[in-house]
Amino acid sequence: MANGFQAKILICVECGEEFIFTVGAQEYFAERGYTEEPRRCKHCHMKYKRDRKNGIKEGLDTIPPDITSEGFSARDTG
Ligand SMILES: [Zn+2]
Repeated sequence: MANGFQAKILICVECGEEFIFTVGAQEYFAERGYTEEPRRCKHCHMKYKRDRKNGIKEGLDTIPPDITSEGFSARDTG
């Protein structure tokens, strides 16, 4: 209970799947001053990032895979 963060379930805007916004990711966001929540699951995030590799910067959608994978490995993907 360091700072009141709590993992939450969010819905991906791309595929509509639920994904976990982990405490680690929330801390990461907070450290960078982001006030919004991620909108894409890890999978779509990677795709999204790849798709717009040559351009537009948006600020959000910068969750490093090592942080989100924590939530994904904990999730039952069956
Ligand atoms: Zn998705």
